[in-house]
Amino acid sequence: MNSNDQHELFQQFPQLKEVANQHTVLWENTNWLAKPTTSLFSLQEVEEAQETLLRFSSYLKVTFPELMKSDGLIESSIKSIPAMKQALEEVFGVTIPGQLLVKCDHALPISGSIKARGGVYEVLKHAERLALASGKLKEEDNYAVLATEEWQTFFQQYTIAVGSTGNLGLSIGIMGKKLGFNVVVHMSSDAKEWKKAMLREKGATVIEYQADYSVAVEQGRQEAVQDPMCHFIDDENSKDLFAGYAVAAKRLKDQLEEADIAVDKAHPLFVYLPCGVGGGPGGVAYGLRELFGEHVHIFFAEPVASPCMTIGLMTGLHDAISVEDIGLNNKTEADGLAVGRASKFVGKVMEHYISGCYTVTDQELFTSLSLAMEREGLFLEPSAHAGMFGASRLWQKGQSYLEKHSLVNHMDQATHLVWATGGSMVPSAMRTAYLAKR
Ligand SMILES: *Cc1c(COP(=O)(O)O)cnc(C)c1O
Repeated sequence: MNSNDQHELFQQFPQLKEVANQHTVLWENTNWLAKPTTSLFSLQEVEEAQETLLRFSSYLKVTFPELMKSDGLIESSIKSIPAMKQALEEVFGVTIPGQLLVKCDHALPISGSIKARGGVYEVLKHAERLALASGKLKEEDNYAVLATEEWQTFFQQYTIAVGSTGNLGLSIGIMGKKLGFNVVVHMSSDAKEWKKAMLREKGATVIEYQADYSVAVEQGRQEAVQDPMCHFIDDENSKDLFAGYAVAAKRLKDQLEEADIAVDKAHPLFVYLPCGVGGGPGGVAYGLRELFGEHVHIFFAEPVASPCMTIGLMTGLHDAISVEDIGLNNKTEADGLAVGRASKFVGKVMEHYISGCYTVTDQELFTSLSLAMEREGLFLEPSAHAGMFGASRLWQKGQSYLEKHSLVNHMDQATHLVWATGGSMVPSAMRTAYLAKR
């Protein structure tokens, strides 16, 4: 993008200038619709994902004993965090009306991040497709049979490749290697050493780049194209990933009902999702809007140096604008969110679905990381803390949104759900280092 284009964009979108200056902003989506629809994706794909995951539950129970107690379902709990709410109010001098909950995807089985939804699903779907096509497996079979050596040998003929900042690679690697696939993970420079080491230990091939996520994805895509036995998991475009993430919505609805938490006009639900390329938060947002309609208000959270979804939606340019185009360097300690260019597919779908986006500083993430540990005994990786600032940003900078949607009088009955996207696999030395950064 040349400086003329940049200048014009800043004129047209004054808030973009604030984003370029790394101010923390709340961008309100004026294209939000009460009943959004999209031609790019259908609910049927989510239902298929649900069914596929169910067929694999017997296999997952055998291969990941931690899944015994959930009968093979990969799910996390919701938890109230009143002490964290109080700490945020004290330390940041903000008000958070309503209750603060956390969705514990940091504790998801298999890979300890939200990627255990989308990433695991796409690997399973691919494995099922190959197995069914071989004629040796039928949909009615007990999939536990896939844990046998015979099937491992079968999957060894095939390769799965992926580009990642860390957690997606980890999920694909763990699940893919368990089945017997060759796995090649193209890692961006942000990826943490321990994630690469763990993958290599599981037998995956890790290729490192001294470049950011977009480059790692592109390299992976190109290498995979040349190999007919290789399936590339395309984080920038994959509808399977999106469908896997979207399955979370129905499960959350059941959990809220079980906890007697109403979601309706008088009890609005606000959900804050850390956003990288957009697939994870996008899938969840899609599912939630389908189920809760206008009573759920969804905000994506991004680091001030990597606000790709914020600027893509704000300008309507989606993947045609990168954070570098407005002078940002895409350098953040929130490695899961270090993405400079958003998914075009997800950005397009989200146009009418989400309420807005906001940005956070790395320092805020580390302060929150310490507070959550101290007050709630809750450890989340830095990326996952981006969601903690949603309720306060909204209250401080989003009064016009609350007024426009007649929410002001209902805020005391509001539920704020912070989507905790990762953290349970972070090694203890790394935790200590993070905790020291407050
Ligand atoms: C991947 C990831 C996200 C965001 O998901 P995207 O699909 O990249 O938008 C958020 N938090 C953590 C910890 C992640 O690993």
